[in-house]
Amino acid sequence: MTPALLAMTVEELTDAVQQLGHPAYRARQLADWVYAKAVTDPAAMTNLPKALAQGFDILTSRVVARADGRDGTIKLLIELADGERIECVMMPSPKRVTACLSTQVGCSMACVFCASGMEGLRRNLSAGEILEQILHLSQACKRRITNAVFMGVGEPLANYDATIAAVRALVDPQRFNISARHVTVSTVGLPKKIRRLAREGLPITLAISLHAPNDALRKQLLPTAGGTPIADILAAAQEFFEAHKREITIEYVLLGGVNDSMVCADALAKLARTIRCNVNLIRFNPVDPSTLVPPTIATVKAFAQRLGKRGVNVHVRRPRGRDVAAACGQLRRNRPLQSDSR
Ligand code: SF4
Repeated sequence: MTPALLAMTVEELTDAVQQLGHPAYRARQLADWVYAKAVTDPAAMTNLPKALAQGFDILTSRVVARADGRDGTIKLLIELADGERIECVMMPSPKRVTACLSTQVGCSMACVFCASGMEGLRRNLSAGEILEQILHLSQACKRRITNAVFMGVGEPLANYDATIAAVRALVDPQRFNISARHVTVSTVGLPKKIRRLAREGLPITLAISLHAPNDALRKQLLPTAGGTPIADILAAAQEFFEAHKREITIEYVLLGGVNDSMVCADALAKLARTIRCNVNLIRFNPVDPSTLVPPTIATVKAFAQRLGKRGVNVHVRRPRGRDVAAACGQLRRNRPLQSDSR
């Protein structure tokens, strides 16, 4: 079996290169092609013996469709070696290029406002499959990825080992070399896993998808994850803050007439003041066949102002990639992309 390059540390790659009969410095050259230049075709690695790169599996997946949004967002539909499909997204801005990564094929959490969970969980992705998304996106946009958010399909902490291995590869200066501050893991809130993450020595950003200011409403909106009391989740998140002094991000999807009242804003402000956090408001992106609707822009503004008045550091997330259904909660496992530019 050909070894999977992305699953290896540079030390392991060096050993493997030597076992194939090549000098150790070739491992550094090979890593430079893959990680720094996002080159995956052995024929294009001009300073290497072709047989060397051919001795490794670099990409096991392939891009089967691409959609380009008017705002520069690129969404890719990727087919894995076993035929399963996932989506990932690249969001550019002048100073950074952010990759939104999937960690599972489907999702078991069944959040009512999310297209990704509608088909249930099929399987976990391996660390290599998570990282391959970075290479595909980098090749698609011809730019280096500077930021990574684990906010695509799946619950990252439910696929803990692969997610952590992928994060370690992202922040490794000898591999993807992305600053830990520019990596965000977003979770519905699994307290035991959050506490374990706090002990990994990874000063990344932790985002909690809260979406409701009380346990009863959260149970309705996040039927699987909502069984865990909000207080337990926030206590674990505060431990993460204590470990790394990295402010927690609370994500809150605003659903028209459901969780966007001033009473909800006051309750959310009360919760937010119990930990060191900022609140990210996301206006709901409608998904078929949901009956939920987005709130008005005025409601979003009023909700944000109310939080601000209550002393909460609040941001309203700029919508990205709506025209290619690449916005939050719109990624899916298995459907044709709406606008394939090729
Ligand atoms: S919001 Fe996240 S956790 Fe919930 S169903 Fe969608 S992908 Fe899964």
